[in-house]
Amino acid sequence: MVFNNLFQFCRRALLQVVDAICPPICAACGQDGAEVCRLCRCSIIEQLRSVSTGSPAETNRTIVGEFSGCLRDVVNGMKFKNHRGAAKYLSGLLSRSIIHDGLVPGVDIHAVTWVPSSERRRRERGFDPCELMARMVGAQLGLPVVRTLVRANSAEQKTRSGLERQNGPGFRGRRTRYSRVLLIDDVVTTGATLAAASGALRTAGVSHIHVAAVAAIPKRVAEGREAPRGLFRAAA
Ligand SMILES: [Zn+2]
Repeated sequence: MVFNNLFQFCRRALLQVVDAICPPICAACGQDGAEVCRLCRCSIIEQLRSVSTGSPAETNRTIVGEFSGCLRDVVNGMKFKNHRGAAKYLSGLLSRSIIHDGLVPGVDIHAVTWVPSSERRRRERGFDPCELMARMVGAQLGLPVVRTLVRANSAEQKTRSGLERQNGPGFRGRRTRYSRVLLIDDVVTTGATLAAASGALRTAGVSHIHVAAVAAIPKRVAEGREAPRGLFRAAA
């Protein structure tokens, strides 16, 4: 206990020193001072007010907002420019949206898991954005965080049909004792990845899955009526 308190004290002190030497910069606009600056936060609040992403009751999904504007820039900053601090802000948005949608931690959901990045992506980035957010959401909601999904390895991928591979990545589910699970994703594109991940979770013993994602691409982009912008191609 004493060691743990001392460790936490040293950690906080070290982070303050690091912040003083290298102040954080906004993941969206690059402004000094915060992981997501005040202006970008305001812009995201406005964005979330103006766009509805559908009813969670019908879909068992909580989607914070549309993958556009400042929200898209923060997500891309986290995923492609190593702004890991943005995960804290985004996980806060996720947790608030989950509670707002009426889910009761411990009753409707018993544990948190995530859609894992491929091993190659994880190595390139040095971290898995969805895992980072899932761990923070778990801490915020007071729920255990469990690694229940594993990306299919190259040998397993070879056994999948061309259509299956075209439809999204393959997953294996690890057996879990939790029957009601919150599945964290960053950006929902066609839904194929979530369908594959949900299928693997069911084979692992999960009976109820609630998906929570930071953003979903606008329908007009998904349907090809508007070209994707920014780093979206990489995100897809
Ligand atoms: Zn900003």
